[in-house]
Amino acid sequence: MEIDFEKASFKDFENIKDYDMYARAAIFNKYLNFLDNKGHLNYRMESISGCGPEMDILIPGKSKHETLVGLVSNDYLGFTQHPKVKEAVVGAIRKYGTGAGASPAIGGHFSYHEKLEKKIASFFRRDNAILYTTGYTANSATFQSLLQKEDIAILDMAVHASVYEGCQLTNIKTFLHNNLELLERALGDAKDKYRNKMVIIDGVYSQDGDLAPLDKILELTKHYGAYLAIDDAHGTGVIGKTGRGVLELYDLFGEVDLITGTFSKTFASAGGYVVARPELIRFLKFQSRQHLFSATSTPAVAGIIKAIELVDEEPHWMDKLWQNVNYFKQGLIDIGMDVGNTASAIIPVKIGDPKKSGEAGRLLLEQGIYTNPIIYPAVAKKNARIRMSLMATHTKAQLDKTLNAFEYVDHKIGISKT
Ligand code: PMP
Repeated sequence: MEIDFEKASFKDFENIKDYDMYARAAIFNKYLNFLDNKGHLNYRMESISGCGPEMDILIPGKSKHETLVGLVSNDYLGFTQHPKVKEAVVGAIRKYGTGAGASPAIGGHFSYHEKLEKKIASFFRRDNAILYTTGYTANSATFQSLLQKEDIAILDMAVHASVYEGCQLTNIKTFLHNNLELLERALGDAKDKYRNKMVIIDGVYSQDGDLAPLDKILELTKHYGAYLAIDDAHGTGVIGKTGRGVLELYDLFGEVDLITGTFSKTFASAGGYVVARPELIRFLKFQSRQHLFSATSTPAVAGIIKAIELVDEEPHWMDKLWQNVNYFKQGLIDIGMDVGNTASAIIPVKIGDPKKSGEAGRLLLEQGIYTNPIIYPAVAKKNARIRMSLMATHTKAQLDKTLNAFEYVDHKIGISKT
């Protein structure tokens, strides 16, 4: 089988028939070399400075690290570098050591884990939560445990990959991103056919940075007797008056059945959680295999507890983030870039053509700007873009440098709206 590397994407290598695993890996490696030779394989670049607004990065083909403006981190409030968060992590490791030693059911449940469960539940004005070691696992494990072959998951097509994975054992129906008419049609079609019907949405969508119309979606799910789950990984700590995310924006805290999320973004660490009614959470603690049979996060979760507290104790970080978002977004619009409908700290510059996006990413790197070119399958084939995440700790000088670099790229290869 011939694959045209010029037109290929990662997905084309997922299932090449008649190839054994080494042959499949070999042809994929060839494709990676092809991208690398063009300077378009800027994935997995090594940082020796963490994930801040400025990053020391080893660019492929270069012999030493370079200092770049970093626009790739979801550490929105900059808490990975906050002295109080670091202090909490170090203190917990001094006291408890570096690992939990077991899964929560059989010895790996420490006072920090107990406190974190309560903290994240009360952050969303609820009482019960379960922890997972990543946000990805929180989604994949939870939906897998709750939805079976008699049920249906109705997904906004732009939900995170982990939600799709969690729904492999149930029926899946997707609807066009944020399209309420199609959601209603899917709910109507499913009405008498399935036992549990669960609509699953993101609060903030990870590639477009736009928000779910939560109030209208809730109205529809209630009307059709469906459950509602929301993954607000990118809205938590960023959206709403006090950073409780899209649920706060619509004041619908108690209304949704499941809130899922991650500690890897605003909460400056790694890990995931689900907040829900007590009977569901207890069910998951003893039925969800990824929780039951997998070791708990390390005692470094103490840093997450502090980061959650800081959202309330130091609200100026969120104010600073929004100043940056508004300034940068307007700057991009002023130079003709298409930022779509973003209403969060995720800023896409939509380009369309995947090759042009790869080239834009390379040219930005050349100008000292580290962004992520996003192509299919993360977004639709003709919807490639440069994706950036802003942080409270970006300076105006860093944002201005980035805006100048976009003007340069536009001049070189034409990426503005025409
Ligand atoms: N949900 C969304 C919307 C995400 O963007 C991500 C990760 N980028 C996840 C879940 C998974 O979170 P984690 O990185 O903690 O696995």
